[in-house]
Amino acid sequence: MNRNQNYFYQSTGVHLSTARQRLIKKILFNLAQEAGRDECFVCGDLLSLEDFTLEHKKPWLYEDNTLELYMNVDNIGFSHHACNSGRSRKDTPGRASKAKSQEKYDENHKFCPGCKETKKLEDFSKHSARASGREVRCRRCRSSIKR
Ligand SMILES: [Zn+2]
Ligand SMILES: [Zn+2]
Repeated sequence: MNRNQNYFYQSTGVHLSTARQRLIKKILFNLAQEAGRDECFVCGDLLSLEDFTLEHKKPWLYEDNTLELYMNVDNIGFSHHACNSGRSRKDTPGRASKAKSQEKYDENHKFCPGCKETKKLEDFSKHSARASGREVRCRRCRSSIKR
């Protein structure tokens, strides 16, 4: 440990490297939120700072181009902790819910992960930054959660 790291640990009880990881995660999450990308790419529901993981969409394990897959930003998705770890096992509910979330961008309907119902597009507020052009949750769900 160098002097700065030592000082940080002595005064906070947290290792500087740990704090740095947390900070990076926080920055990433804030940016994802601003960009409207704070949706889990597995289940489509909203993510929170406490439940937010980076995941490689295409696994890099046992591949010829491991480094390439690992470092490719396009291969990164945001997901819930449970959705992320669920996907690493074969034939888990994670896969089933992915298929379900792909159905949600119908022309006139969208799946709301809040009430678990497919509703009319008009039931969702507009949100230009999101892929669907609409908010993740329907108006009724959004009015019942405080953000
Ligand atoms: Zn999820
Ligand atoms: Zn809803």
